[in-house]
Amino acid sequence: MQTPDAPPARRTPPAGFLQDLWETRAGRLLGRMGLDSVRTTILTLAVAATLIPSVATSWISYRQNRRAFEARAAERLETASTQGAREVDNWLKNQLHDLRVFATSYEVTENLERGGISARRLPEYLASVNERSPAFRALMVIAPDGRTVASSGGPAERLQFTGDWMRRARQGDRILGDPVRGDSAAATTMALAIPIINASGRFLGVFGARLAFGGMVEPLDSLLTDANIRLLVARRDGNAILARGGTLDGVPTAAMRRLEGAEGASVEYEASDGVAVLGAAAEVPGTEWIVVAESPVGPAYSEIREMRNATVLLVLVLLLVVGSLAYALGLLIVLPLERLARAAKQVQDGNLEVEVPASGRGEISQLTFVFNDMVRGLREGRANLERLTVTDDLTGLANRRFLTAELEREVQRSERHGHPFAVLMLDVDHFKVFNDTHGHLAGDAALQQLAILLRKSVRAVDTVARYGGEEFLLILPETPAAEAAKMAARICKAVAAQRFRVDAEGTEVSITASLGYALFPKDAKTVDALVEAADQALYASKAAGRNRVTAAS
Ligand code: GH3
Ligand code: MG
Ligand code: MG
Repeated sequence: MQTPDAPPARRTPPAGFLQDLWETRAGRLLGRMGLDSVRTTILTLAVAATLIPSVATSWISYRQNRRAFEARAAERLETASTQGAREVDNWLKNQLHDLRVFATSYEVTENLERGGISARRLPEYLASVNERSPAFRALMVIAPDGRTVASSGGPAERLQFTGDWMRRARQGDRILGDPVRGDSAAATTMALAIPIINASGRFLGVFGARLAFGGMVEPLDSLLTDANIRLLVARRDGNAILARGGTLDGVPTAAMRRLEGAEGASVEYEASDGVAVLGAAAEVPGTEWIVVAESPVGPAYSEIREMRNATVLLVLVLLLVVGSLAYALGLLIVLPLERLARAAKQVQDGNLEVEVPASGRGEISQLTFVFNDMVRGLREGRANLERLTVTDDLTGLANRRFLTAELEREVQRSERHGHPFAVLMLDVDHFKVFNDTHGHLAGDAALQQLAILLRKSVRAVDTVARYGGEEFLLILPETPAAEAAKMAARICKAVAAQRFRVDAEGTEVSITASLGYALFPKDAKTVDALVEAADQALYASKAAGRNRVTAAS
């Protein structure tokens, strides 16, 4: 009985409920996909287990690598463009510095202040200076009224500037003309002018020059560390002034706007030749020029593409290896299962002589061991049952059912080999009286002792059967008439000589038996006729006074 303070019985979920649910639902789903065999289930599992993690990790690392790669490529371009702009700026400053040195020379200021005193020496001065500074195509001195005072070039040399440039020069500004593009950097030139101011700060005129861009080549080329980078000095509208590491094509205006808007950060755009490029731009201070560094997207990503292809290949190889392994492992499960299924089918068809080979301690081996045990049990059970159906309970001798079949077999054997055989019938004399005198149990015991005696009295090939009650039938194969007579007489004598115990005190009594025998094929041609003939002979023995042998007539 439960005491009041006993802990309440814990509610347990129905055993295996979730397992059942999973088995039925998932099993049905797999079945619908045609994946319900062990082999395909294992294969599917292996492929999923390989594919999911490897694709996921590959994807993540691909993304990370790509981002890192993009950042590196962008940084390279950003550095190239800012350094390019600095180089151009430095170069331009150097040129202006040189001009300033020339402009403040005594020859120039003197000439302009004293008006013509050294008019003849000024062109010579300009020519000699120009000779030492070949970056300038021409040098000239221009009076505030715009008249060219002297020039190192020919008389036709004129500098083109836009707007009211002389007024700007008067205010101390340097004047940059529009670059005129030539076939090469050395052929590309630009007009340049700075004011000439004397020691007391008076504006005397303008020192002009035509500057060639050849000097820009070397510093820019030193920045072309990457074969794919193109450096471009362009106007704000995108028109190219000078290019290194590529063609002289400009940058589309819209792309230029985006580059400027990005403030030095890299931008992806379509170059004028239609190729996708990554580019970065930097302004050259004090000018309308912008240095653009760009590189095609395709080659920049080739490393990434190679890595991606290698990853895909690796995943495929993994799939192949793991798939094959899973298939081979699947066979380890499937083959024994198929063997078991075949054996089970044989058992179903009634063949119990099957034994499935098994080794190891795995589940399938266990199942196989159990199966073999089960079949062995069935086999033994059936053998027992078969023996019981042909055995007499009391004496352990063959029963009448077995006897009938055995007689049929013996007839066939005898006909095949042409050898005769004998059938001997025995009935205990006055057994009713025996039972009445000593009791039914003593009768049973006497029958058992008689069975042992009969078995001992015949050969191993002979069959001894209890025909019914206290009647016995013996089949004696390959036995001619004389032999049968001898055997019957010996048995009759042995029964009479035997002492049968009838109680616990050890009281022993004698019994006798009457015998009759018949021979196949001499006395009868069928089983029934043969038994009938032996029975008739037995009856004759009874009639003649019992405890004797009679041959069928
Ligand atoms: P007879 O000499 O003419 O054969 O006389 P009998 O008394 O033996 O006559 P019968 O063969 O007709 O009777 C058979 C008796 O054997 C009847 C039955 O009491 C007894 N008997 C038959 N089967 C068994 C058995 O299994 N155990 C015992 N204790 N007695 C049996
Ligand atoms: Mg009888
Ligand atoms: Mg009898």
